[in-house]
Amino acid sequence: MEWIEDELQKLVDRSLNRSLQISSTVFDRQGYVLRGQKTLLDLSSNDYLGLARHPAIADAMAQALLAEGAGSGASRLITGNRPPYSRLEDALAAWQQSEAALVFANGYMANLGVIQALAGRGDVVFSDRLNHASIVDGIGLSRAEHVRYRHNDTEHLRRLLHKHRDARRKLIVTDAVFSMNGDQAPLAELVALKREYGAILMVDEAHSGGVYGARGEGLCHALGLQGGVDVHVGTFSKAFGVYGAYVSGSRTLIRLLVNKARPIIYSTAPPPSVIAGITEALKLVQTECQRRERLAASSRQFRSTLRVAGFQVGPGDSPIVPVIVGDNATALRFSSALESEGIAAVAVRPPTVPEGTARIRFSLSAAHNPDDLADAARRIEQVAVRLGVLAP
Ligand SMILES: *Cc1c(COP(=O)(O)O)cnc(C)c1O
Repeated sequence: MEWIEDELQKLVDRSLNRSLQISSTVFDRQGYVLRGQKTLLDLSSNDYLGLARHPAIADAMAQALLAEGAGSGASRLITGNRPPYSRLEDALAAWQQSEAALVFANGYMANLGVIQALAGRGDVVFSDRLNHASIVDGIGLSRAEHVRYRHNDTEHLRRLLHKHRDARRKLIVTDAVFSMNGDQAPLAELVALKREYGAILMVDEAHSGGVYGARGEGLCHALGLQGGVDVHVGTFSKAFGVYGAYVSGSRTLIRLLVNKARPIIYSTAPPPSVIAGITEALKLVQTECQRRERLAASSRQFRSTLRVAGFQVGPGDSPIVPVIVGDNATALRFSSALESEGIAAVAVRPPTVPEGTARIRFSLSAAHNPDDLADAARRIEQVAVRLGVLAP
């Protein structure tokens, strides 16, 4: 087993070692975390709407826990399928204006399950190079041919679709908002291409669900494109502040998933308390629009402050604001200097992002107060100048 030590040492040498840090919640201060003895402004969580500690969600979960117990006991196809699951799925389908929806244990499993159910040997999956790891893993497990297109490059995708036009089935998969870039997929063009080439289009709204759309339906709805998307995936672990995921689409699609999605068939149904929490969060996501508005305003303000300070901030208006520094060691130094300044902002390094594009990924939440964000932006600028990331 000595090779393990060698492998780990190689990671340390390349500033790629990772370790688990303990972050505790700060009871009376939303949007903050406790690291050691220090309270830090949390610019790294995906709790976009600030729902993770909403009392109504916690209350719904506590009640379900007392009424139904801790675990569901079996997969949904055995005896784990309780009434609240289908009630939630009806509410999800109504929210998404789709025929049907299916709940998964989390977004990672949803992507594995859906891609494996839709594609197999002899099929081709076209995937944006910057798609989330769970999509990459789903394609690998499906045994379909994995064809990557350059990030958001629809001309490149068109050439590849043409090249593989005779494939049995073609599936195009994209993140709606890219998790480490914060930019948006060219969804209108993808819908046009999938129609032209007779492909299936699957969109992962992990970072856009709850954040975009009049009732938080996601980016596809915000752009009026939901009718052109065949498979819609979203998570409850980010803007919903709970845990879990869903797929929505046609009744036929959902029937296929019940029969073929391995995480549904071979894994225990999520605990009833989690389903109750998601059900409550779904109500809040649809009705508490002020959270979305506050988040949009903070995102605009924070992005523009960093731009004015001289940072290269990526395009878009999402709450994910990456500052690319390039090499891994600088990203780590930047992150630890920010921690000394009271800001939790994690360095994201390969393989999560391409080699040479290590970055600090700032993510905002409706839980943040605008003055704290303005103050954080000033400190980020000072640290960057001190480290030579930004010219003075
Ligand atoms: C976070 C994320 C997932 C995984 O969702 P979980 O519910 O956290 O497992 C899937 N896709 C994308 C694009 C994500 O960012």
